[in-house]
Amino acid sequence: MPVADYGQFCEMLDRARKGRFAYPAINVTSLTTANAVLKGLADSRSDGIIQVSTGGGAFASGAAVKDMALGAISIAEHVHRVAPRYPIYVALHTDHCQADKLDPFVMSLVEETERRRAAGRPNLFNGHMFDGSALPLADNLDIAVKLLERFKRSDLILEIEVGVVGGEEDGVSASAAAKLYTTPEDTLEVARRLRAVSAAPYLLAATFGNVHGMYKPGQVKLKPSILKDCQDAVVATLGEEARFHFVFHGGSGSELRDIHEALDHGAVKMNIDTDMQYAFTRAIADHCFKNYDGVLRVDGDVGNKHAYDPRPYMTKAENAMAARVVRATAELRSAGTTMMQ
Ligand SMILES: [Zn+2]
Repeated sequence: MPVADYGQFCEMLDRARKGRFAYPAINVTSLTTANAVLKGLADSRSDGIIQVSTGGGAFASGAAVKDMALGAISIAEHVHRVAPRYPIYVALHTDHCQADKLDPFVMSLVEETERRRAAGRPNLFNGHMFDGSALPLADNLDIAVKLLERFKRSDLILEIEVGVVGGEEDGVSASAAAKLYTTPEDTLEVARRLRAVSAAPYLLAATFGNVHGMYKPGQVKLKPSILKDCQDAVVATLGEEARFHFVFHGGSGSELRDIHEALDHGAVKMNIDTDMQYAFTRAIADHCFKNYDGVLRVDGDVGNKHAYDPRPYMTKAENAMAARVVRATAELRSAGTTMMQ
């Protein structure tokens, strides 16, 4: 199916919350990784989300260009072109964008969508994340409110973060003193400020001990019950309409029971990057180790063109990542839930 439109994306989010499942939101950096996500979603009959980070966009634009918005546009245009060949809905989103990168990244993409809409074409992206979690909450929300005022005119969904996701992603790492657990008071303030601008859905990454990257079991203490406390507080104060659509960041390596508890409390989007990176690279490493004297020209030999042609090992990597996407849809309970009839 084509990339989901605004109404379809909103429906996806509500279906997930009601059905207690979440969509995998998978970071891609290339045509091949985008194709892997589409294949994995189609194989599992799950709708899902493809997203691009600032670093992923810069990479996709080429080593000599390094334009984060340009690369993101390029990937999104590819997805718009090929998505109709897959029997599922996919939404396009962008990942963490700190305040200092809003102009070169998110606002450039919003302007691109505005130009397209003015010409009668569909949105380029469905939504964008602003990560103001390093700022005091009031400053974070001042920026979020301004963004939402602009976004709502173009049917764009805003994702924000309160609290701080630990660890490191895309070269940005949180300090050890960061606030890894958010509070119902903080999330209530989010709802008050954002719902004053628009009654439309937004996505909230409320942290409950999440850490980016991969850690050995036991090193990360997740408390998904925080999400329930936040839902209970917002519904009691502002009503059922204000119930959150949460985003689960930093979930690589999480215990399945913690993931499922987060889904039970309204996590509808789970960002997955690290585990996908590993699945992709693992297949390439396997190919290279097994075909050592084919991918290399050892001792004056000529190697094997069929081994060092990038297509066979990139196809293995695409299939391995697609299989990891299938596993993610099973863990997130989105397999078999596509809205596509
Ligand atoms: Zn994240």
